[in-house]
Amino acid sequence: MPEHRDDADHDRWTPRHSAELYGLEDWGGGYFGVSEQGTVVAYPHGSPEHAIDLHEVVRGLEARDLQPPVVLRFDDILAHRMGHLRRAFDDAIAEAEYQGRYTCVYPIKVNQQRHLCEEIRDVGRTLGFGLEAGSKPELIAGLALTEGHNDMLFVCNGFKDEEFIETVILAAKMGRNILPVVEQTHELDLIARSAERHDVTPRFGVRAKLASGGVGRWAGSAGFRGKFGLSVSQILAAVDQLREQELLDGLQMLHCHIGSQIYDIRTLKYAVSELTHLYVELVKLGAPMGVLDLGGGLGVDYDGSQSARDSSINYTLEEYASDIVHRVKAICDDADVAHPHIVTESGRALVSHSGVLVFQVLGSRTFPDEPDQALVKRALEQDSDETPQPLLDLVDAWERLQDGADPGEVYHDAEHALSEAVSLFSLGYMDITCRAATEEIYWAIGMRLLAEEGDDLPEDFADLPDRLGDIYFSNFSLFQSLIDAWGIDQIFPIMPIHRLDERPDRRGTLADITCDSDGKVDRFPGAAEPETTLPLHRLRKGGDGGPAGEYEPYYLAVFLTGAYQETLGDLHNLFGDTHAVHVVANGDGGWSLDEVVEGDTVREVLRFVQFSPDDMRRALRKEIESAVASKHLTLREAVRMRRFLDDGLDGYTYLE
Ligand SMILES: *Cc1c(COP(=O)(O)O)cnc(C)c1O
Repeated sequence: MPEHRDDADHDRWTPRHSAELYGLEDWGGGYFGVSEQGTVVAYPHGSPEHAIDLHEVVRGLEARDLQPPVVLRFDDILAHRMGHLRRAFDDAIAEAEYQGRYTCVYPIKVNQQRHLCEEIRDVGRTLGFGLEAGSKPELIAGLALTEGHNDMLFVCNGFKDEEFIETVILAAKMGRNILPVVEQTHELDLIARSAERHDVTPRFGVRAKLASGGVGRWAGSAGFRGKFGLSVSQILAAVDQLREQELLDGLQMLHCHIGSQIYDIRTLKYAVSELTHLYVELVKLGAPMGVLDLGGGLGVDYDGSQSARDSSINYTLEEYASDIVHRVKAICDDADVAHPHIVTESGRALVSHSGVLVFQVLGSRTFPDEPDQALVKRALEQDSDETPQPLLDLVDAWERLQDGADPGEVYHDAEHALSEAVSLFSLGYMDITCRAATEEIYWAIGMRLLAEEGDDLPEDFADLPDRLGDIYFSNFSLFQSLIDAWGIDQIFPIMPIHRLDERPDRRGTLADITCDSDGKVDRFPGAAEPETTLPLHRLRKGGDGGPAGEYEPYYLAVFLTGAYQETLGDLHNLFGDTHAVHVVANGDGGWSLDEVVEGDTVREVLRFVQFSPDDMRRALRKEIESAVASKHLTLREAVRMRRFLDDGLDGYTYLE
């Protein structure tokens, strides 16, 4: 091949460059990659032999009249994650010659959507997994899900009342493998009363409040001041009480939950040590025990850095399993206590990867690379004797920049001139045309500085990319679909799902369509620190009149959204649930839709807030009719207005 061709190839931007730029392999967990066509693909079985093209799926959904925003759920990825966790513990158990078993109970609260829970139940059955509930609705959901599968372990945490406890006691009597966990001392009395009433020996666990606190955001889940669990002295008193009531035989499990997203494996080690020692002591006190439940917390590497920061984790699934198994074994062997059945309540780590949120960009706000010369001319000519000094200074600065002056210096001058311009304007000494021209020139100077020194900006200009970055307006609600990005500043990986064979030459933040200035995303995975802007492609003209109007559709996806985002989200601005579809891998290498869960309609969200859509429709139709009578509307206009209302009520809450 001739030499110059080599050079050309070297400069060509390929999908591989995009994969690297967005860190796809770092955070993708082996479930995502890029195609030669420049699209993102999902690997449903964790390996590239079978690839599902996300862009193709989204276009396929649109052809079925399901517009983004949409949540894609990959059941195969979920099943693969479950299998991975199973294997990690099986291997650790075999390697350590551990005598106990391992079970993961899926905490329903992490994502309660029925189809997903059923998938976990079905796959979980073959892997020996169970379920966990933390409230009455989840208890009932869990009972229904495990119906016909009596052997599936069902752990019940959370605050409980008499009704809750009695339901659990009776379910156990029906043959269910159900274990309530005592979170507060008075729940022991409820259990004792209920057991006596129904003449059964109850089985239950206690939740311990450990001294080893949790870390990061969920530090409050554990520690002496934790909201849940019994302190060591309360547990000791409980053992005495149980022995007196002849119920000590029922105490079969010790539980703790030190918080979600444990990012540093050391935190886990401390907690496992403390809890296992407590377990051993309880055995010595005569409790039968048998099950050691370490709660949730197995984390997800959202930013792909494999480090001990809260958007990442500094351990693998294998290390997590191996650390637990070895530690529990060592402590029990020392005390000559039988190895317990280990349970974890891993939620986030099971379901995160299987959920992908896709939405369309509606348009962008970009700052000009060049000032609008016509505007500047108009400003200078309109009252040439009285042209405000800051405008003259900016015009001069721009000219110096064209003559090769140092952009940093010019930018400093421009900043100063702009602030003077704003003062003059606020005092009434500058008109709108001059104000507009000064802003235009200032932005263009900033953009030039960014373009020339963007890669290593001097300290002084560190905030420039944020101030001059593009804003991509996006058809989704942060509050409905990405609540943790708002509530706890969580970082999620985000990238375009197509055009990856083009170099993304813009940088920007994302703004959602709620009327809330907090509805934005400006934290993205970064190597050392979170990045404040995301590389993005320039929008292309030539749209088909969809929500993006004149622009060609541009689709972005947020990955690792399977845990917590769907039900924690809210109805801010009455943007409802998005569509959710279950995409499954076909035997022939393709994909198909297993389930389509349509998002909320306008009618449904209005009902949530007690409006009656039918009454509203009637009242508005009446008004339209009288507008026709009074000739404010033509008959044709009235029909259009009525149709808009009817279609609107039954339509999607997002832009279509
Ligand atoms: C929330 C919760 C979990 C799940 O935690 P993850 O970090 O998602 O694994 C497990 N157990 C209890 C008691 C919880 O409250």
